[in-house]
Amino acid sequence: MDGPAGVEARIAEIQGRIAALSAPARPPVAGGPAFGTALAQAVTGTSAASTAAPGVLGPTAALTAEDHLAAARLRSGAPVSGGLTADGAPQELAGYGNGKVPASALSPIGQGSHRLWAPAAEAFERMHAAAARDGVEIGVTDSYRSYEAQVDLAERKGLYSQGGLAAKPGTSDHGWGRALDLDLDGRAQAWMRANGAQHGFVEDTPREPWHWAFTPVR
Ligand SMILES: [Zn+2]
Repeated sequence: MDGPAGVEARIAEIQGRIAALSAPARPPVAGGPAFGTALAQAVTGTSAASTAAPGVLGPTAALTAEDHLAAARLRSGAPVSGGLTADGAPQELAGYGNGKVPASALSPIGQGSHRLWAPAAEAFERMHAAAARDGVEIGVTDSYRSYEAQVDLAERKGLYSQGGLAAKPGTSDHGWGRALDLDLDGRAQAWMRANGAQHGFVEDTPREPWHWAFTPVR
């Protein structure tokens, strides 16, 4: 699968599978034609190393849980509470597009350079402090994720729907600054399962106990 022909074939295959996944009623918001361009850049550009693992997005892979959740959300068209659009976007960020939100529109969460949608950032800081009072440390490994980073992650770790660990690019809650990947020891995992929801963070993706999505608590 080396050379331009191989790359073109991979892109066509992946686009076909994504079209099949999201065909029913996908609003013209995120993803779409830009995906091929971004993927082509990811394949031919910065992530040359990814071509060493051509099986990552191979035909045997299936849709991941994050994909299913995102697709269900898109198909439902149902309003989501808490200032979110039907496809899970914070209303004030929806205009940017998933993974296209500028850092200036996101808020720091007090951990490294990590940023989230402002209500999620505030909730995390409160939750982190509450955990600390209980002697529990909640580490953060990932937060907002750009569209390009989502494409790169899909290349490296495979689509969740295909047994991998990456959402379909343009659908991840990380792309709205609404999800955190946490570094949790056993005690911290138990603390999050007992207390996360009251701060709006829910473990919503099977096979990813580190992934916590935020929905405002009303
Ligand atoms: Zn995650």
